[in-house]
Amino acid sequence: MGARPGLELDEPVIFERGAAGRNGMCIPDAGLKGEPAIPAHLLRTEPAALPEVAEYEVVRHFTRLSRMNYGVDTGFYPLGSCTMKHNPRICEDTAALEGFACIHPMTPSSMAQGALALMWELEQSLKEILGFSAVTLLPAAGAHGELTGLKVMRAALTARGNPRTKVLIPDTAHGTNPATSALTGYTVVKVKSNESGILDPAEVAAVMDGDTAGIMITNPNTLGLFERNIHQVAAIVHEKGGLVYGDGANLNAIMGKYRPACLGIDVMQLNLHKTFSTPHGGGGPGSGPVGVVESLVDFLPVPRVVRVEDGRFELREDFPLSIGRMRSFQGQFGVLVKALTYIRALGADGLARAAEMAVLNANYVRVKLQDKFNLPYPGVCMHEAVFSDRNQIKSEGKVSTMDMAKRLMDHGIHPMTVYFPLIVSGAMMIEPTETENMADLDEFIAVMERIADEAANNPEIVHSAPHLTSVRRPDEVSAARNPVLTWHAGNRQA
Ligand SMILES: *Cc1c(COP(=O)(O)O)cnc(C)c1O
Repeated sequence: MGARPGLELDEPVIFERGAAGRNGMCIPDAGLKGEPAIPAHLLRTEPAALPEVAEYEVVRHFTRLSRMNYGVDTGFYPLGSCTMKHNPRICEDTAALEGFACIHPMTPSSMAQGALALMWELEQSLKEILGFSAVTLLPAAGAHGELTGLKVMRAALTARGNPRTKVLIPDTAHGTNPATSALTGYTVVKVKSNESGILDPAEVAAVMDGDTAGIMITNPNTLGLFERNIHQVAAIVHEKGGLVYGDGANLNAIMGKYRPACLGIDVMQLNLHKTFSTPHGGGGPGSGPVGVVESLVDFLPVPRVVRVEDGRFELREDFPLSIGRMRSFQGQFGVLVKALTYIRALGADGLARAAEMAVLNANYVRVKLQDKFNLPYPGVCMHEAVFSDRNQIKSEGKVSTMDMAKRLMDHGIHPMTVYFPLIVSGAMMIEPTETENMADLDEFIAVMERIADEAANNPEIVHSAPHLTSVRRPDEVSAARNPVLTWHAGNRQA
């Protein structure tokens, strides 16, 4: 850790490199005479607007771009809610085995027994970890798993006579929860958390009725807090004929410690790319398996991996109540290989130990930083700690969460998750994960303390951060609303 200024290169787009006539390779004249081999009407009339660069310029360009990148393999990555932990290389090795990496998704089941066996075994492992009756590996990510789970809920309620119209969602929820509810055709009813940051059974009872399909609960929730009242909440929802959806993105805090199904959860997605080792970020790759209790098994998407009598495996689609296909082929297979490798490498005890260490590390950071940073929900947290910028923004220097996140980059650390969850104003959500050692946590803590001191004594340096990155404070709203995705002369000025 620690940023070293210098050699931080401002890299233009490749179209701005090179000069006319520069070339990356020399091909000997083939000696062809007469008519060109390509028919005249297919030939360009003007040369393509390609950059003209030497090979070394191409190599430098992309190497420099890669060095502007920051990932879990570069340094500490405390992005909360995302579980950016170290991913053991053994998982990459197994996923790259030729039989796994090169198998075509349309290979007939009879010739894909190894791949199907792997999927079946992963399903068994996840069933054991979650306490459910069946698991589908099809969904491509967490949000897609939520959508799958809600469709399963809707199908089950429809089969019981009424799909209902509403879904309850706590105010701490991830934005994908209301989004998937809306996509499934449900209206979202927000449930307020209590002053401790968790669900209050009375609040749930006040809004739960016979027209509500169920509730979506994240446990631990996005404040990093354990939903202590989940048993009562589940009972209230079940009593009125609703179902309990568990957002399992935070499983890293609890795997191997307790089974979500035992808390009254009926259906739940996992984010294999967060909890079970797959480098992710920038949108993929992901995998969001969904587990369900016995009464929902028939509604799972197809195809399903089935072990037939002689011990062989088949992909079957003959489930009349199924919600159907959720995607092409059989899921994000490479991620499945990594997940099973990770589970096998750690074993049941190892998984529980990883959860314990994730919680311990988050609490270490929480305790060390709570004097300088406001902790809106004090007390023991689970795998992540949520602070706010209250102490800084309310003091003379008026330093905000965004300022401090930018300043972290000057110190060579990836910012934490900022301004989420929404119920904490100026939230700074820190998830160290179990894989960081104490020395690395201490370095991070020291940097955060230094930023707090700067915010008090030299706020200008924090307001104007980052100072040591090639891109400093882009207009994020314009970048998102008016993305410039193609190059043409003049873009750079624009
Ligand atoms: C990450 C996350 C999701 C969404 O998962 P994706 O794989 O990014 O689609 C949902 N809920 C919570 C709590 C999350 O942290």
